[in-house]
Amino acid sequence: MTVPHRPAPQRGVFDEPYWHHVAAGELRLQRCSGCGAFRYPPGPVCPECLAEEHDWAALSGTGSLLAWTVFHRRYFPEIPVPYVVAAIRTPEGPILIGNVVGTRDSRLSHGMPMRAVYEDVDTTDGPLRICQWTCLDDPSHFEE
Ligand SMILES: [Zn+2]
Repeated sequence: MTVPHRPAPQRGVFDEPYWHHVAAGELRLQRCSGCGAFRYPPGPVCPECLAEEHDWAALSGTGSLLAWTVFHRRYFPEIPVPYVVAAIRTPEGPILIGNVVGTRDSRLSHGMPMRAVYEDVDTTDGPLRICQWTCLDDPSHFEE
């Protein structure tokens, strides 16, 4: 019997450092060395000042819940429903998209403090560590 895997995320050449840092349990984003603006998604030049130089700056790994939706329809057999896809506003500025794990969807509210967590998953391209989000205030877990 074949074990199902979740679809691998599409990865571009500019994304590779992001995945390298996530594999090490670090949330880092490309940041312009010229003006300090974060480039998200990462790219070859800064959209603010056109500088090419950059580093990969560590984020705090915290944020607030900006928006979310609850999926009740199962699109992927390996991802159980319900699951939450959310936009998290980081204090550094970028808004990141991820799943909310470890918190009941009925407990979510706008502005909730969130923190990044890392999940090791099997994808169609092999094992991968992904960044997810959980609520700081509500450690309740989904009860199946
Ligand atoms: Zn710049």
